[in-house]
Amino acid sequence: METPSRNIRGSRRIPGKAVPLCAAFLFVLSACTPSREFLLKQSLAAGVDRQYVRVLVANTTERVLVSGQARMRISDLKTRKVHYDGQGSQVYFYPEKVLTPVVVESWGSTVCVNGTCYRGLMELHNILGRIYVINVVTMDEYLCGVVPKEVSPSWDDEAIKAQAVAARTYAYYHLMQKKDAIYDLDATTNFQVYGGFSAENERTSRAVSMTSGEIAAFNNKPIQAFFHSTCGGATTDDRFVWEGDDKEYIAGVKCEYCKNSPHYSWDETITLYEMRMYLEKKYKGVGAITGLSFKKNEGRITSVTVTHKNGRLTVTGNEFRLLFPDKKIKSTWFEAVKTREGLALHGHGWGHGVGLCQWGAEGMAQKGSGYRDILKYYYRGIQIINIGGRAAQAARPHETRTGRNISLTDPES
Ligand SMILES: [Zn+2]
Repeated sequence: METPSRNIRGSRRIPGKAVPLCAAFLFVLSACTPSREFLLKQSLAAGVDRQYVRVLVANTTERVLVSGQARMRISDLKTRKVHYDGQGSQVYFYPEKVLTPVVVESWGSTVCVNGTCYRGLMELHNILGRIYVINVVTMDEYLCGVVPKEVSPSWDDEAIKAQAVAARTYAYYHLMQKKDAIYDLDATTNFQVYGGFSAENERTSRAVSMTSGEIAAFNNKPIQAFFHSTCGGATTDDRFVWEGDDKEYIAGVKCEYCKNSPHYSWDETITLYEMRMYLEKKYKGVGAITGLSFKKNEGRITSVTVTHKNGRLTVTGNEFRLLFPDKKIKSTWFEAVKTREGLALHGHGWGHGVGLCQWGAEGMAQKGSGYRDILKYYYRGIQIINIGGRAAQAARPHETRTGRNISLTDPES
């Protein structure tokens, strides 16, 4: 039961449960978490120093529970006035009470938001009655919470490293697109799923650390590093998936490495009734379906034309796939056979099929390929460059990124 003991501006504190921290936990934190003072300064200068990533971890009209097991301090982001400083706290933030942005810092412990714990610090902003909770972390801390959400920690080191570099590249690409938002990325599939400290795993974190600063670049810019679970035998060109796109470094390649994926091939049935139901969720006025035609390129569906009682509708293959709930139509690469109720599909792979095939990366790694060769196989004509990670920062501080320009060093040279 909630028992507020003291009013903090914009929040109420309830007694925290004392949970002992094990020595290993403390060691990991002290080894990886930068000075909070430094981090705070960086957060104030966000938008200039891009070694830090601002990740939206909650966006809600509901109250938000923020907790820390060690010392926690809550202060005003602008004036630095301290609202609270104490041990082992749980604080509820209510949207109507967060009048100006606040920062929550914790020493010797992560900061947890509604039960999920994060490194770095938290900012809470009230925008039009919604609380935006933004986690400010270093790029590698961010990636430590991303990579285990994308690949299995039991995979080969080189496959995990390939994923770490792809995820870092993907993040930098988006950081360079966003200019004035209060956050850079959100924690969902809109960008990359980020589970914070709670998701971390020793093996995936090691891969992040070993590739620190490395990204995939084309013409000295981070590529848009698309990746997907399983291509099913060949990846595809982005122009067959997203209209108008044609990145030089993305082209379909044969992939015989993802055969061990549980999604390598699949079978599914869809009734016409179901299809109409899902179409109607996005397109109003779809009547009973009377005809279907598919356009293909190299086996993948590029467009679907649905003829129905009220007219005709054409969607891209990828839009068609995404109309259905997760995993129902795993990819655009399928053969369809007409049945009495609808269609029987036999398909290949899971995901959009563009860029790095994650199960393929694992297959290549098991056959002895290194992570740079894996990346160069799926992204054509790229270089792996170092833009100044933890290792590079120590040696070449002047070569780290400044503003939105990137100074390049090639770890392969
Ligand atoms: Zn593949």
